[in-house]
Amino acid sequence: MSKIVGIDLGTTFSAIAILDDLGNPEVLSDPINNNRITRSAVYVGREKAIVGDKAIDAAVTNKKNTILEVKSEMENDVVWSTSKGQWIDRDGKKDVKGYTPSQISSLILSKLKDYTSGVKKAVVTVPAMFAEAARVATIDAAKLAKLDVELINEPTAAVLHYANLPGVSISGRVLIFDLGGGTFDITIAAVKDKKIDVITSVGDKHLGGRRFDEEIIKILDKKYKKAKGKGLDDLNDEKLFLIAERIKKILSNKETVSEIIEGPKGPQKIDITRKEFENSIDTYVEKIKMLMEEALERADCKPSNIQQTLLVGGSTRMPFVSEIIKKIMKKAPVKGVNVDEAVACGAAIYAGIQNKDELNPSQKKAIAKVDLQDICNFYMGTLMATIDQEKDQWGVVNDVVIPRDTKLPCSITKNYAVLHDDQETIDCSVTQSEGEESNIDFVVVIAKEPLKLSKNAKQGDPVEVTYSYDTNGKMHCVFQEMKSKKKHEMTLKPDGSKEFKKLKDELDFDIE
Ligand code: AMP
Repeated sequence: MSKIVGIDLGTTFSAIAILDDLGNPEVLSDPINNNRITRSAVYVGREKAIVGDKAIDAAVTNKKNTILEVKSEMENDVVWSTSKGQWIDRDGKKDVKGYTPSQISSLILSKLKDYTSGVKKAVVTVPAMFAEAARVATIDAAKLAKLDVELINEPTAAVLHYANLPGVSISGRVLIFDLGGGTFDITIAAVKDKKIDVITSVGDKHLGGRRFDEEIIKILDKKYKKAKGKGLDDLNDEKLFLIAERIKKILSNKETVSEIIEGPKGPQKIDITRKEFENSIDTYVEKIKMLMEEALERADCKPSNIQQTLLVGGSTRMPFVSEIIKKIMKKAPVKGVNVDEAVACGAAIYAGIQNKDELNPSQKKAIAKVDLQDICNFYMGTLMATIDQEKDQWGVVNDVVIPRDTKLPCSITKNYAVLHDDQETIDCSVTQSEGEESNIDFVVVIAKEPLKLSKNAKQGDPVEVTYSYDTNGKMHCVFQEMKSKKKHEMTLKPDGSKEFKKLKDELDFDIE
């Protein structure tokens, strides 16, 4: 029988989980070293790729071939050049040499998939605020790893896990605080029994543990320089990052840490206090507080309306996290969950919900009551021509069709009109944006196809645009000239990119 897994494809660490025979999620370990989380680091050699901690070891001798934080690049049209050792913008040119973020991510997925045999299907998690291009690249990555894939938002997966935990009672409005290695997400959801209604998600795609490690490196550099008169050689050295990460983790439990740092002027003992470290990440902490307030505002609730705060992501072990939660929410967060594994476990539960036919009776019973209502995380719109009142001239603006946070499934129709007599076509553009934008420079056009109008189209003839968004992330868009009933339909679902075959042909690695 084929197995369906849940995979948390993280910026710094990834994990894979599966439902056990009783329907409880179980995290699978790397059979070589028994680690339950795998570092999302990839080394690409000539014929061999190495994924995990060993890729960092390889980085010491061959830095240009080691790729970290690939998730941060998923929405970009870039390739990793092993001759330059950096990401290069392709500027639309598909023949620039290097590996795409989807190819690199596929190596991580292939490694995780091999922690057990017979995996064909997976639910892969993505940050709630992952744009369309990043979702498409994630699907490409899964397909390259020979996985039949569905995506779920990370906070949604986490709350699924919390709501299913035996012995933990989650009910009412909850705030999911997800601070990982590379991203920060705040989600507010309503939970009743095992029915979960997502209300809103906000986040920052570049705020997480790796940024905190950078701050520790800056402190080490400053103190080394003060003691020896010369700073550290390479602040991007991966070994230094490993030391910084270790210091950060110790500071989660202790007030002070001492470390011998090897630098250009020999070894030097350096002390760092938790206070010093927390001061250095002050701007990030302020950003986190701001996003918490933004999420509460978007969900139209006060801290007192939130029954529980659920922690997700390794960086929530830092003491400042519980402190600000207690201060803002006036209640401590829920304890007792492995914050590194919650997302993968929730993804495994979702994989079960989506594939009930393949479950045994105990597994079906375990997840029978689980129900999920998700939301549209972006403003979905279209482009229209209108008179710019200020300039008194025609211009193109974005018009929102489905507002952000609309509950799914939904279907919304908006009315437009033919611009001038004898107009031949209408551009059917579908846009996506994080904010409620009218300025076309701040939206991403995710589809654009023409609707041919009838021959005698007249200015002002009505045109209806209907977007229907289902619960599986599929959006059906209809642009219709009402007089002739001529219409153009598009179904948009992140489903891999057009260059998939090329991506696949270029990838021929043994994976360690
Ligand atoms: P995740 O993406 O959820 O796997 O989180 C990974 C991040 O959590 C990395 O940046 C880790 O350094 C960080 N992390 C894990 N454990 C701790 C800890 N005890 N204290 C501080 N940060 C931690």
